Amino acid sequence: MRSTWKIAVLVVAALWLAACTPAQKPETSIQSDVGNAASAADAQFKRGQNIPGRLYWAGSAQDKKVALTFDDGPDNIWTPKILDILNRKGVKATFFVLGSQAQRCPDMLRRIDAEGHVIGNHTFDHVNLATVGSPKADKELDECANIVQNITGKRPRLVRPPFGFHNPTVDKLVYAKGEIIVLWSLDTEDWKGYDSRTVKQRILPKMKNGFIVLQHDGANPHLGGTVQALPEIIDGLREQGYTLVTIPELLNVEPYQ
Ligand SMILES: [Zn+2]
Repeated sequence: MRSTWKIAVLVVAALWLAACTPAQKPETSIQSDVGNAASAADAQFKRGQNIPGRLYWAGSAQDKKVALTFDDGPDNIWTPKILDILNRKGVKATFFVLGSQAQRCPDMLRRIDAEGHVIGNHTFDHVNLATVGSPKADKELDECANIVQNITGKRPRLVRPPFGFHNPTVDKLVYAKGEIIVLWSLDTEDWKGYDSRTVKQRILPKMKNGFIVLQHDGANPHLGGTVQALPEIIDGLREQGYTLVTIPELLNVEPYQ
């Protein structure tokens, strides 16, 4: 009986690997990022301080526009479910993809693009850009951009550093490529496996003009709450008067090179 159980666990684990799910840590919350020496070495890198044309935590507080973003995909489990809902609701979102995942699931990347969503760069393998050193950070960003370009014909300009970790060296590297760093205003921490009610509670009462919402569509077996909550989040935000837009529309920037 015990060995049967073990085999079942192994099968489930293998299924997750087959679903192109790399082992990695999801983004940390804003609170812990702000306290991190790697990302807060300079006051201007703290949350809320946009650097126009270069780095953004949020869009304009004047407009009732907000953006949904999904990180760590594409995968073949959550990404199609999220795309189905976005399609049904007529919402365009922004997907910060991993090069490694795009390589494993190129058709899903094509689908994201074909359905009018925006693709951003989340590195090849979800590394902490602030600690790997410039050559590796450079390679991680270029590899992801190359893969997305090869599959879709579009080279992303929007970069979201994994975990939100960046520093002046990383920033310089990104800016030199003519690319833009996009962080977030509201972290759902959906990777923790919250149920749909909790995911909703972490978004709807906290939303403000210009906010960028961080959620995930890959690299995690516990995103059922994210998917289940999404239709009600979209409806709830619209009831509050928000228009849901992509990051380029929210920030008035070009998405591709
Ligand atoms: Zn991530």
